[in-house]
Amino acid sequence: MIFWVSQRRSSSGRFLLVDRDGVINRDRPDYVKNRNEFIFYPDALSGLRWLHAHGVRVIVISNQSALHRGLMEWGAFFDLHAHMIREIQESGGHLDAALYCPHRPDEKCSCRKPAPGMILAAASFYGFPLAKTPFVGDKLTDVAAAENAGCLPLLLRRGPDGVEVSPHVPVYNTFFDAVRALFATQNF
Ligand SMILES: [Zn+2]
Repeated sequence: MIFWVSQRRSSSGRFLLVDRDGVINRDRPDYVKNRNEFIFYPDALSGLRWLHAHGVRVIVISNQSALHRGLMEWGAFFDLHAHMIREIQESGGHLDAALYCPHRPDEKCSCRKPAPGMILAAASFYGFPLAKTPFVGDKLTDVAAAENAGCLPLLLRRGPDGVEVSPHVPVYNTFFDAVRALFATQNF
């Protein structure tokens, strides 16, 4: 797994885990392979700005199998990552860390969601309590990864043909809605 950590440190103890494609930026069926294919959701930038202003540390947890499938150059991947970090910072937000799994499903690694490997690695590094940490995703594999790691799944359904989930998983239309709902609960 690839584990990027920001040099800017914060002492806050509150963390939010987020998927990347489909949550921060538009997903696409042929993978987001370079910065030109990376299109931010405006509400995601607003949500990240809100989180940073309120001292919540944000960690991206993302499957990027296009790397090992040979569909994306490593240089383009890191360029896209640096572009995303810079754009988020320029809009007033901040990412503390980003973890990526480069593997294909047939490699049977322990980091590709729904496996909990990336979430557990982040929790081990930062020492945050899994049972109190939310994970915002847009796919059932995100919900499963959150549950496998013992943290709290939240689901985004950005389109009318969104996925179905069990009733105990909260569903929101946008990332900003999910962030506002988290702040409305007493334990975040
Ligand atoms: Zn992996």
